[in-house]
Amino acid sequence: MATALKSLHLKNVTSNGGYVGRFAPSPSGQMHFGSLVTALGSFLQAKSQNGQWLLRIEDIDPPREVAGASESILRCLEAHHLFWDHDVVYQSDRSDLYNEKIQYLTEQGFTYHCQCSRAHLVSLKFGQACVCADLKLNIKSLNNENSAIRFRHHNIHQGFYDELLGQVNFPKFDIPAQFAIKRKDNLFAYQLAVVVDDIQQGITQVARGADLLGATLFQLALYQAFDRPAPTFLHFPVVVTEPGKKLSKQNHAREINTKDARANLINALGFFGILPTKELQRGSVQNILNWAICEWDLRKIPAKTECIDNRIGHADSI
Ligand code: GLU
Repeated sequence: MATALKSLHLKNVTSNGGYVGRFAPSPSGQMHFGSLVTALGSFLQAKSQNGQWLLRIEDIDPPREVAGASESILRCLEAHHLFWDHDVVYQSDRSDLYNEKIQYLTEQGFTYHCQCSRAHLVSLKFGQACVCADLKLNIKSLNNENSAIRFRHHNIHQGFYDELLGQVNFPKFDIPAQFAIKRKDNLFAYQLAVVVDDIQQGITQVARGADLLGATLFQLALYQAFDRPAPTFLHFPVVVTEPGKKLSKQNHAREINTKDARANLINALGFFGILPTKELQRGSVQNILNWAICEWDLRKIPAKTECIDNRIGHADSI
């Protein structure tokens, strides 16, 4: 059993040695300016290297899903000529794969069932596991009601190298010794699904918003457990209306108006330190994008975790 699973988990589907990037939105709302910035950044990073840019809809959390959001994200990307390579991958289609990977991690001794409350887990000290880990409860079923399946780090990462921010280190107390890979409500956890998919899709670089910097530590632990090399990581500054206040679906950021695709792109390029000439600004969306692919340069992007939304007259900061 272990051997069969291992060979499955070693299979990459798309990487042929070139750059493979991705955009992986959750359909918990429509695209807003912040998500467009992330989509555009990951697209330009891939296309400036003649790479592939894959699209994965991370729809494994039905309670947080907004009806119609997946479809509207696709239409928004198309309106901005951010065309993806290959078919869209939907995480909701991949439960069997995620269960196989949990099974694999369990066979390798990385998992345990846990019924602890969030408050208890937060109160634990660095490196301290919850009582359930010590009880070494056997996982008899992957669908055990009222308990989460947690991953226990054997080797806790405290930092990693980011292609924009350089070495990023986290204070010890910010790093829990365990994290959920399947939640108490039986839904797969983001950390598991994202790593399984990034491996399976042959992603060579994860380019995304800096709000996910901390998640990278958990994901690195999973790459190690799967015995797979991690991709490189590139975290763009997130768009904030004021320090610490990110534009997000939860904060009801205004939905992108696809009729303003050209203006949206120009604004988003401004975040990456790229400003098209006045003449180009009057050109087509495709011309602006083609030009931006040539102009793309990580050294022009502020090496920061957040940038204030400096669009003139935008409603998100009101
Ligand atoms: N689905 C996540 C989100 O929308 C992003 C995952 C990732 O890029 O790793 O925030």
